[in-house]
Amino acid sequence: MIQDFSATAECAAALDARDALAGYKQQFLFPQHNGENSIYFCGNSLGLQPKSVRAAIDVELNSWQNLGVNGYMKGDNPWLFYADYCKPALVKLVGAAGVHEVTVMNALTVNLHLMLLSFYRPTASRYKIMLEAGAFPSDQYAVETQVLMHQLQEQDAIIEIAPRNGEKLLRTEDIIAAINEHGHSLALTIFSGMNYYTGQLFDMAAITKVAHEAGALAGFDLAHVAGNVPVKLHDWNVDFAVWCSYKYLNSGPGAVGGAFVHEKHTNTQTPRLGGWWGNDEKTRFKMEKGFIPKPDASGWNMSTSQVFNTVCLKASLEIFEQAGIHHLRQKSILLTQWLEFLLQKITNIGFEIITPTNPEERGAQLSLYFKERGRDIFNAMSDNGIIVDYREPGVIRVAPAPLYCSFSDVFKFYSILKEI
Ligand SMILES: *Cc1c(COP(=O)(O)O)cnc(C)c1O
Repeated sequence: MIQDFSATAECAAALDARDALAGYKQQFLFPQHNGENSIYFCGNSLGLQPKSVRAAIDVELNSWQNLGVNGYMKGDNPWLFYADYCKPALVKLVGAAGVHEVTVMNALTVNLHLMLLSFYRPTASRYKIMLEAGAFPSDQYAVETQVLMHQLQEQDAIIEIAPRNGEKLLRTEDIIAAINEHGHSLALTIFSGMNYYTGQLFDMAAITKVAHEAGALAGFDLAHVAGNVPVKLHDWNVDFAVWCSYKYLNSGPGAVGGAFVHEKHTNTQTPRLGGWWGNDEKTRFKMEKGFIPKPDASGWNMSTSQVFNTVCLKASLEIFEQAGIHHLRQKSILLTQWLEFLLQKITNIGFEIITPTNPEERGAQLSLYFKERGRDIFNAMSDNGIIVDYREPGVIRVAPAPLYCSFSDVFKFYSILKEI
């Protein structure tokens, strides 16, 4: 396919004409620049608002208005079961065996901590926790503070895997070698599914397999994966995963987060912190002593469903259900290849694409590394109606999300960049 590309507006139009998902763009609201839609390549940070969200919020406002507390059992979407409405779609996005392996609750870092409490259970001999160097800061802080909570030494207990000297990406073989090296003392690997800075998608199946062979567990932070790249958490035997819903899942700032717990761990024996929403509904309202977690991933829920935090996810997932994550992924691979093809034609500004070239090792995002003047180039893009983001040191992240970005948008981005 890539050899058919030519750097022309006609080629972009032809690609759009062949795109079966092109119509989904109409379902989203775009920030405006000089009276026109911005070029929005920032869905890896905050996805755009689906037009359907406003009405969906209105439904719950009306239930609240008309039913008051009876909204928990009545109305269009009884709130008691609100988390459940999102589960069938999430099962497909993360490759769970069924709705029993997924839940929605809280937000990402909170869920990461809850999962670490259950699955990072250091012993005297097996206490190390491994992640990639340069992980998202919140994940670094979570791991650091968990280690301190267990009264372990950071330098001893945290193993960070960095790229080789002069390289920007992690090699799977180096991750595997490190897991084997620390195998006897390793309790858990907690890599991100995709690194936020480089856009590198890790080989989660391989990491999980080797971690298990070493006697450790494997969890993942899927913040940059959920809604971007379909994964197979159940089949890969991943122990747990967490993600947020405001990036590729388009559920708005502060949206409710998600979690996957493999069915082998969802039994009531797995230690955790409990709250009434993780308890069986049958006994939840008896107000009796004795926490009995639901025997599924929602056994980690604690608090009453955050309806207004979840309604946007519910509305957004309906679009994913219609479009299909595998169709979206197909489009995304082509769209990002098109972006890469055009970027390679740019000679007026110096940068390096640090994201892997292989589509199997990346999602929608390309990270452009500028040795110098990255911030200036970023500002010039903003002045021209391009919304991307800048991450120190020196990287502009460009992520055309396939639900609402077209091949012509990518061409427009290229045309503007060429003139900067
Ligand atoms: C976006 C992101 C976060 C943010 O966590 P919140 O708790 O939702 O603020 C954490 N980790 C990773 C890897 C992210 O990409």
